[in-house]
Amino acid sequence: MKKLGFKKETTVGRYLDPFNNFQEKQVSFEVRYDDITGVSSRILLYRSRMSLKPEVDSYLEKSPESLCPFCPGLFEKLTPKFTPDIISEGRFQRGQSYLFPNAFPYDQNHSVAIFSPRHFVPMNELTPGFMQNGFKVCGDYFHRMAQMNLGYKYCSINWNYMPPAGGGVIHPHLQTVVGLKPTNYVQRLLESAQKYAGNANGNLWRNLIVLEKEAQERFITSTGSISWLTSFAPKSMGGEIDFIFQEKSSFFELTEANIAELLSGLSRIFSYLHLNNFISFNISLYAPMINDNNFWVQGKIVPRFVVNPLGTSDINYFEKLHNEIICPVVPEELCRELQPYFNS
Ligand SMILES: [Zn+2]
Repeated sequence: MKKLGFKKETTVGRYLDPFNNFQEKQVSFEVRYDDITGVSSRILLYRSRMSLKPEVDSYLEKSPESLCPFCPGLFEKLTPKFTPDIISEGRFQRGQSYLFPNAFPYDQNHSVAIFSPRHFVPMNELTPGFMQNGFKVCGDYFHRMAQMNLGYKYCSINWNYMPPAGGGVIHPHLQTVVGLKPTNYVQRLLESAQKYAGNANGNLWRNLIVLEKEAQERFITSTGSISWLTSFAPKSMGGEIDFIFQEKSSFFELTEANIAELLSGLSRIFSYLHLNNFISFNISLYAPMINDNNFWVQGKIVPRFVVNPLGTSDINYFEKLHNEIICPVVPEELCRELQPYFNS
């Protein structure tokens, strides 16, 4: 089986340490490159932790229920509706979950889904039961878009949970994108998978899972149809957790049980993040809408944070302008820390 394009080298920085009589101090870090994703990360081997859970009260004060477009008071008045050719009721509904067009779209088909009327839901209360209808209503929308036969090929379910992750509204909500073309990053994954298969190596994702499982470094667990792993070269300062659906080459191959399995795994990861003082994350699930044998439905979770006391962003010039991520979370350690959450 062909090895994956994971490259790393260790580099050492040196300085005279003011906290130790200006004796020379050496600090090691790894420069990693993942040829599948094209992501470069610098893994700082001196791990720092979030010592205190950031206060969420100030977010709640600035964003009360009375001003929230997704709370029952303003929901009917302020949220957009679909044209009747898409759905006659104007919005998709599953129980207390609704899906409707994004008022600030950046794609032709860009929608928002709320889980429930609850304005603020702490991370440890994002249970599979709470999330279920929100994800299902996204599925209903994808089915409708496919049924309309307009040639859409790619869809994604995305989540900015809380402001440090780009969430503009406290009220938990998902965003979906349905398009003719993949986004830039998904295009990269597709190209890597096509190139790998084209060189007679087989399915990239199958081999990735086999090799990562054998290596026992970043493979968290398999929960049945989903493999959970930490990324070799994370896309975020807080690390990155990946999930890959075995042999599922289109969104429409996912069953209710598969979605339930995903939500169970996500809630375990949220428990870990909550106990480690994170209050924010991004999630994306990427899926073809037409079977693509080279691609398996998959997604990523990245914890997000701000550094107090200034509320400093976790994205700086290095990520923004050099396209490399500084990551003080060692992926192999993150994997070991997450494993117990999947065993209980
Ligand atoms: Zn609200």
